[in-house]
Amino acid sequence: MILKVEKFLKNYVDRFGVISSNIFPIPIENPIFEKFEYSYDKGYLDGLNWFSKNLDIMRFPAKYFKEFKSIVFFFFSYFDSTVSHNFSNLPKISIYAQYEDYHLTIRNFLKDLGRELRRVFGIKSVGFVDSSPFMERGFAFLCMEDGFLGKNGLFYLKGRGSYFFIGELLLDIESPRNWGAEKPFLRYCKNCNICVKSCPVGAIVEPGIVDSRKCISYHTIENRGVIPREIAVNLNGYIFGCDICQQVCPLNRINGSIFKGFTRVKEIEKFDLDWFLGLSKNRYEKIFKKSALSRANYYQILRNIFILAETDYIDGCFAKKIYDKFGHRKEIYEQLKELK
Ligand code: SF4
Ligand code: SF4
Repeated sequence: MILKVEKFLKNYVDRFGVISSNIFPIPIENPIFEKFEYSYDKGYLDGLNWFSKNLDIMRFPAKYFKEFKSIVFFFFSYFDSTVSHNFSNLPKISIYAQYEDYHLTIRNFLKDLGRELRRVFGIKSVGFVDSSPFMERGFAFLCMEDGFLGKNGLFYLKGRGSYFFIGELLLDIESPRNWGAEKPFLRYCKNCNICVKSCPVGAIVEPGIVDSRKCISYHTIENRGVIPREIAVNLNGYIFGCDICQQVCPLNRINGSIFKGFTRVKEIEKFDLDWFLGLSKNRYEKIFKKSALSRANYYQILRNIFILAETDYIDGCFAKKIYDKFGHRKEIYEQLKELK
Protein backbone atom coordinates (compact mmCIF):
# COMPACT_ATOMS: atom_id res chain seq x y z
CA MET A 1 0.00 0.00 0.00
CA ILE A 2 2.64 2.53 1.07
CA LEU A 3 4.64 2.06 -2.16
CA LYS A 4 1.53 2.56 -4.25
CA VAL A 5 0.64 5.75 -2.42
CA GLU A 6 4.19 7.08 -2.75
CA LYS A 7 4.18 6.36 -6.46
CA PHE A 8 0.82 8.02 -6.86
CA LEU A 9 2.05 11.11 -5.00
CA LYS A 10 5.24 11.36 -7.04
CA ASN A 11 3.33 11.10 -10.31
CA TYR A 12 0.71 13.63 -9.21
CA VAL A 13 3.15 16.31 -8.01
CA ASP A 14 5.65 15.80 -10.82
CA ARG A 15 3.16 17.31 -13.28
CA PHE A 16 3.40 20.58 -11.35
CA GLY A 17 7.19 20.56 -11.02
CA VAL A 18 7.01 19.56 -7.35
CA ILE A 19 9.26 17.03 -5.60
CA SER A 20 7.92 14.65 -2.96
CA SER A 21 9.59 12.61 -0.23
CA ASN A 22 8.71 9.10 0.85
CA ILE A 23 6.15 8.65 3.60
CA PHE A 24 7.51 8.48 7.15
CA PRO A 25 5.90 7.83 10.53
CA ILE A 26 5.10 10.91 12.61
CA PRO A 27 7.76 10.69 15.31
CA ILE A 28 6.77 10.39 18.96
CA GLU A 29 9.72 12.58 19.83
CA ASN A 30 11.25 14.99 17.34
CA PRO A 31 14.75 13.63 16.59
CA ILE A 32 16.19 17.06 15.88
CA PHE A 33 14.57 19.01 18.68
CA GLU A 34 17.88 19.46 20.48
CA LYS A 35 19.36 21.31 17.53
CA PHE A 36 16.39 23.63 17.53
CA GLU A 37 16.53 24.04 21.31
CA TYR A 38 20.15 25.11 21.03
CA SER A 39 19.20 28.03 18.74
CA TYR A 40 16.23 28.84 20.91
CA ASP A 41 18.28 28.90 24.14
CA LYS A 42 20.93 31.09 22.54
CA GLY A 43 18.23 33.62 21.62
CA TYR A 44 18.77 33.21 17.86
CA LEU A 45 15.01 32.81 17.38
CA ASP A 46 13.99 35.79 19.53
CA GLY A 47 11.10 37.67 18.05
CA LEU A 48 9.70 34.60 16.30
CA ASN A 49 6.98 34.17 18.90
CA TRP A 50 5.31 31.20 17.26
CA PHE A 51 8.10 28.93 18.48
CA SER A 52 7.89 29.78 22.14
CA LYS A 53 4.17 29.04 22.16
CA ASN A 54 4.55 25.64 20.50
CA LEU A 55 7.57 24.03 22.08
CA ASP A 56 5.78 20.93 23.36
CA ILE A 57 4.07 20.24 20.03
CA MET A 58 7.37 20.63 18.28
CA ARG A 59 9.03 18.21 20.63
CA PHE A 60 6.30 15.55 20.72
CA PRO A 61 4.38 15.91 17.44
CA ALA A 62 2.65 12.49 17.49
CA LYS A 63 0.94 13.39 20.78
CA TYR A 64 -0.88 16.27 19.09
CA PHE A 65 -1.92 14.54 15.88
CA LYS A 66 -3.33 11.28 17.17
CA GLU A 67 -5.62 10.68 14.20
CA PHE A 68 -2.67 10.81 11.78
CA LYS A 69 0.13 8.27 11.58
CA SER A 70 2.52 9.41 8.88
CA ILE A 71 3.88 12.42 7.06
CA VAL A 72 5.08 13.21 3.53
CA PHE A 73 6.97 16.35 2.48
CA PHE A 74 6.76 18.33 -0.76
CA PHE A 75 9.24 20.80 -2.24
CA PHE A 76 7.96 23.76 -4.24
CA SER A 77 10.59 25.72 -6.14
CA TYR A 78 10.02 29.47 -6.38
CA PHE A 79 13.01 30.15 -8.60
CA ASP A 80 12.58 30.66 -12.31
CA SER A 81 15.95 31.16 -13.97
CA THR A 82 14.28 32.66 -17.06
CA VAL A 83 12.82 35.61 -15.12
CA SER A 84 14.68 38.66 -13.82
CA HIS A 85 13.66 39.33 -10.24
CA ASN A 86 15.45 42.66 -10.02
CA PHE A 87 13.68 45.92 -10.77
CA SER A 88 15.59 48.94 -11.96
CA ASN A 89 13.24 51.48 -10.40
CA LEU A 90 12.71 49.77 -7.10
CA PRO A 91 14.12 48.86 -3.77
CA LYS A 92 14.47 45.12 -3.47
CA ILE A 93 11.73 42.63 -2.64
CA SER A 94 12.64 39.05 -1.83
CA ILE A 95 12.00 36.76 -4.79
CA TYR A 96 9.37 34.64 -3.11
CA ALA A 97 7.25 37.69 -2.29
CA GLN A 98 7.02 38.56 -5.98
CA TYR A 99 4.52 35.72 -6.36
CA GLU A 100 1.07 35.29 -4.94
CA ASP A 101 1.28 34.22 -1.33
CA TYR A 102 2.76 30.74 -1.18
CA HIS A 103 0.76 29.91 1.94
CA LEU A 104 -2.49 30.15 -0.03
CA THR A 105 -1.19 28.58 -3.23
CA ILE A 106 0.44 25.62 -1.54
CA ARG A 107 -2.39 25.08 0.92
CA ASN A 108 -4.85 24.87 -1.98
CA PHE A 109 -2.56 22.50 -3.86
CA LEU A 110 -2.31 20.24 -0.81
CA LYS A 111 -6.08 20.32 -0.34
CA ASP A 112 -6.61 19.16 -3.93
CA LEU A 113 -4.02 16.46 -3.49
CA GLY A 114 -5.67 15.38 -0.23
CA ARG A 115 -9.02 15.07 -2.00
CA GLU A 116 -7.42 12.83 -4.62
CA LEU A 117 -5.86 10.63 -1.92
CA ARG A 118 -9.27 10.27 -0.33
CA ARG A 119 -10.92 9.42 -3.65
CA VAL A 120 -8.32 6.92 -4.85
CA PHE A 121 -7.17 5.28 -1.60
CA GLY A 122 -9.67 6.41 1.04
CA ILE A 123 -6.82 8.13 2.92
CA LYS A 124 -7.57 11.05 5.21
CA SER A 125 -5.03 13.87 5.25
CA VAL A 126 -4.34 17.39 6.40
CA GLY A 127 -1.84 19.79 4.83
CA PHE A 128 0.47 22.43 6.27
CA VAL A 129 2.92 24.94 4.93
CA ASP A 130 5.08 27.05 7.21
CA SER A 131 2.52 26.69 9.97
CA SER A 132 2.93 23.27 11.52
CA PRO A 133 4.98 22.06 14.47
CA PHE A 134 7.07 20.07 12.02
CA MET A 135 10.32 21.92 11.76
CA GLU A 136 10.15 21.56 8.04
CA ARG A 137 13.75 22.16 7.15
CA GLY A 138 14.98 19.74 9.77
CA PHE A 139 12.52 16.99 8.93
CA ALA A 140 13.05 17.47 5.22
CA PHE A 141 16.77 17.06 5.83
CA LEU A 142 16.12 13.78 7.61
CA CYS A 143 13.78 12.32 5.03
CA MET A 144 15.46 13.38 1.76
CA GLU A 145 18.49 11.35 0.79
CA ASP A 146 19.97 14.33 -1.09
CA GLY A 147 18.85 17.00 1.39
CA PHE A 148 21.27 19.08 3.46
CA LEU A 149 21.62 22.46 5.10
CA GLY A 150 23.84 25.24 3.82
CA LYS A 151 26.00 27.33 6.10
CA ASN A 152 23.33 29.98 5.60
CA GLY A 153 20.87 27.72 7.45
CA LEU A 154 18.76 27.06 4.38
CA PHE A 155 17.55 23.69 3.22
CA TYR A 156 19.07 22.51 -0.08
CA LEU A 157 18.41 19.62 -2.39
CA LYS A 158 21.60 18.45 -4.04
CA GLY A 159 21.80 19.83 -7.59
CA ARG A 160 18.63 21.89 -7.14
CA GLY A 161 19.63 24.66 -4.77
CA SER A 162 17.74 26.26 -1.92
CA TYR A 163 14.85 28.18 -3.44
CA PHE A 164 12.16 25.92 -2.01
CA PHE A 165 9.10 26.14 0.12
CA ILE A 166 8.35 22.99 2.02
CA GLY A 167 4.83 21.74 2.61
CA GLU A 168 3.58 18.51 4.13
CA LEU A 169 0.59 16.24 4.39
CA LEU A 170 -0.21 14.21 7.47
CA LEU A 171 -1.84 10.90 6.54
CA ASP A 172 -3.90 8.42 8.53
CA ILE A 173 -1.95 5.40 7.23
CA GLU A 174 0.95 3.67 8.93
CA SER A 175 4.41 3.83 7.39
CA PRO A 176 6.95 1.06 7.98
CA ARG A 177 9.87 3.36 7.06
CA ASN A 178 12.26 4.76 9.61
CA TRP A 179 13.88 8.16 9.62
CA GLY A 180 17.31 6.76 8.88
CA ALA A 181 20.73 7.16 10.37
CA GLU A 182 22.13 10.51 11.42
CA LYS A 183 24.12 12.31 8.75
CA PRO A 184 26.06 15.58 8.83
CA PHE A 185 23.75 18.57 8.38
CA LEU A 186 26.08 20.44 6.03
CA ARG A 187 27.28 17.43 4.09
CA TYR A 188 27.10 18.79 0.51
CA CYS A 189 27.69 22.45 1.39
CA LYS A 190 30.92 23.61 -0.28
CA ASN A 191 31.99 25.30 2.92
CA CYS A 192 33.18 28.23 0.79
CA ASN A 193 31.96 30.80 3.35
CA ILE A 194 30.73 33.12 0.61
CA CYS A 195 27.30 33.40 2.27
CA VAL A 196 28.89 34.21 5.63
CA LYS A 197 31.15 36.89 4.17
CA SER A 198 28.36 38.36 2.02
CA CYS A 199 25.80 38.74 4.78
CA PRO A 200 25.91 42.50 5.41
CA VAL A 201 24.87 42.23 9.05
CA GLY A 202 26.85 39.18 10.20
CA ALA A 203 23.66 37.21 10.89
CA ILE A 204 25.13 33.78 10.07
CA VAL A 205 26.57 33.26 13.50
CA GLU A 206 27.48 29.57 13.36
CA PRO A 207 27.54 27.09 10.48
CA GLY A 208 23.89 26.53 9.54
CA ILE A 209 22.55 29.00 12.12
CA VAL A 210 21.14 32.47 11.50
CA ASP A 211 20.53 34.86 14.36
CA SER A 212 17.12 36.32 13.58
CA ARG A 213 17.88 39.32 15.78
CA LYS A 214 20.37 40.45 13.14
CA CYS A 215 18.79 39.16 9.94
CA ILE A 216 17.50 41.72 7.42
CA SER A 217 14.70 39.37 6.48
CA TYR A 218 13.43 39.26 10.05
CA HIS A 219 13.66 43.01 10.54
CA THR A 220 12.02 44.07 7.30
CA ILE A 221 9.11 41.63 7.72
CA GLU A 222 8.56 40.72 11.35
CA ASN A 223 9.91 43.68 13.28
CA ARG A 224 7.04 46.11 13.70
CA GLY A 225 8.99 48.61 15.78
CA VAL A 226 12.33 50.28 15.25
CA ILE A 227 15.06 48.56 13.26
CA PRO A 228 18.34 48.93 15.20
CA ARG A 229 20.73 51.34 13.56
CA GLU A 230 23.48 48.81 12.81
CA ILE A 231 20.96 46.72 10.84
CA ALA A 232 19.06 49.64 9.29
CA VAL A 233 22.17 51.12 7.67
CA ASN A 234 22.87 47.74 6.08
CA LEU A 235 19.54 46.85 4.50
CA ASN A 236 21.25 46.75 1.11
CA GLY A 237 18.19 48.03 -0.66
CA TYR A 238 15.71 45.51 0.76
CA ILE A 239 12.24 46.61 1.80
CA PHE A 240 10.95 43.06 2.21
CA GLY A 241 13.03 40.00 3.03
CA CYS A 242 16.59 39.39 1.90
CA ASP A 243 17.99 36.96 -0.68
CA ILE A 244 21.68 37.80 -0.42
CA CYS A 245 22.91 34.57 1.16
CA GLN A 246 20.99 32.53 -1.42
CA GLN A 247 21.97 34.62 -4.42
CA VAL A 248 25.68 34.46 -3.73
CA CYS A 249 25.73 30.72 -3.09
CA PRO A 250 27.42 28.75 -5.91
CA LEU A 251 25.02 25.88 -5.26
CA ASN A 252 22.19 28.09 -6.50
CA ARG A 253 23.62 28.49 -10.00
CA ILE A 254 21.00 26.23 -11.45
CA ASN A 255 18.43 26.19 -14.19
CA GLY A 256 15.49 26.27 -11.88
CA SER A 257 11.97 25.51 -12.93
CA ILE A 258 9.31 26.98 -10.76
CA PHE A 259 6.24 25.29 -9.23
CA LYS A 260 3.55 25.65 -11.88
CA GLY A 261 1.01 26.90 -9.34
CA PHE A 262 2.84 30.19 -8.64
CA THR A 263 1.67 33.39 -10.32
CA ARG A 264 3.65 36.61 -10.32
CA VAL A 265 1.88 39.57 -8.68
CA LYS A 266 1.34 42.06 -11.51
CA GLU A 267 1.40 45.13 -9.28
CA ILE A 268 4.88 44.27 -8.03
CA GLU A 269 6.23 44.53 -11.55
CA LYS A 270 4.86 48.02 -11.98
CA PHE A 271 5.67 49.04 -8.41
CA ASP A 272 7.59 52.30 -8.30
CA LEU A 273 8.08 54.51 -5.33
CA ASP A 274 5.96 57.46 -6.43
CA TRP A 275 3.14 55.07 -7.22
CA PHE A 276 3.53 53.32 -3.89
CA LEU A 277 3.63 56.55 -1.89
CA GLY A 278 0.43 57.61 -3.59
CA LEU A 279 -1.40 54.51 -2.34
CA SER A 280 -3.63 54.69 0.70
CA LYS A 281 -3.29 52.03 3.37
CA ASN A 282 -6.57 50.46 2.25
CA ARG A 283 -5.50 50.36 -1.34
CA TYR A 284 -2.15 48.78 -0.38
CA GLU A 285 -3.95 46.10 1.60
CA LYS A 286 -6.35 45.43 -1.23
CA ILE A 287 -3.66 45.18 -3.91
CA PHE A 288 -1.22 43.06 -1.93
CA LYS A 289 -3.79 40.96 -0.07
CA LYS A 290 -2.81 37.85 -2.00
CA SER A 291 0.93 38.49 -1.92
CA ALA A 292 3.37 37.44 0.79
CA LEU A 293 4.21 41.15 0.95
CA SER A 294 1.09 41.53 3.09
CA ARG A 295 2.96 39.84 5.95
CA ALA A 296 4.50 43.25 6.47
CA ASN A 297 1.95 45.98 6.98
CA TYR A 298 1.75 49.23 5.06
CA TYR A 299 3.64 51.23 7.69
CA GLN A 300 6.46 48.70 7.92
CA ILE A 301 7.04 48.94 4.18
CA LEU A 302 6.94 52.74 4.44
CA ARG A 303 9.43 52.58 7.33
CA ASN A 304 11.73 50.38 5.25
CA ILE A 305 11.59 52.75 2.27
CA PHE A 306 12.16 55.67 4.65
CA ILE A 307 15.31 53.98 6.01
CA LEU A 308 16.70 53.46 2.50
CA ALA A 309 16.11 57.11 1.66
CA GLU A 310 17.55 58.37 4.96
CA THR A 311 20.66 56.22 4.50
CA ASP A 312 21.10 57.39 0.88
CA TYR A 313 20.46 54.02 -0.68
CA ILE A 314 17.72 55.67 -2.72
CA ASP A 315 17.02 59.33 -3.46
CA GLY A 316 16.70 61.30 -0.22
CA CYS A 317 13.66 63.13 -1.64
CA PHE A 318 11.61 60.04 -0.70
CA ALA A 319 12.55 60.50 2.95
CA LYS A 320 11.12 64.02 2.84
CA LYS A 321 7.99 62.87 1.06
CA ILE A 322 7.39 60.15 3.63
CA TYR A 323 8.18 62.40 6.57
CA ASP A 324 5.86 65.15 5.33
CA LYS A 325 2.97 62.71 5.11
CA PHE A 326 3.71 60.19 7.88
CA GLY A 327 6.14 61.93 10.24
CA HIS A 328 3.48 61.71 12.99
CA ARG A 329 3.58 57.88 12.90
CA LYS A 330 5.84 56.27 15.50
CA GLU A 331 7.23 53.87 12.85
CA ILE A 332 8.72 56.93 11.17
CA TYR A 333 9.67 59.37 13.91
CA GLU A 334 11.14 56.71 16.20
CA GLN A 335 13.06 55.19 13.31
CA LEU A 336 14.42 58.62 12.44
CA LYS A 337 15.62 59.07 16.05
CA GLU A 338 17.40 55.69 15.79
CA LEU A 339 19.15 56.73 12.59
CA LYS A 340 20.33 60.13 13.81
S1 SF4 B 1 27.69 29.98 -0.05
FE1 SF4 B 1 29.18 28.28 0.25
S2 SF4 B 1 29.18 27.97 2.48
FE2 SF4 B 1 27.36 29.16 1.99
S3 SF4 B 1 25.72 27.64 1.77
FE3 SF4 B 1 26.54 28.06 -0.27
S4 SF4 B 1 28.11 26.49 -0.55
FE4 SF4 B 1 27.69 26.53 1.62
S1 SF4 C 1 18.84 36.61 4.71
FE1 SF4 C 1 20.25 38.35 4.43
S2 SF4 C 1 20.59 39.16 6.49
FE2 SF4 C 1 19.66 37.11 6.73
S3 SF4 C 1 21.40 35.75 6.94
FE3 SF4 C 1 20.93 35.79 4.75
S4 SF4 C 1 22.23 37.47 3.92
FE4 SF4 C 1 22.19 37.67 6.14
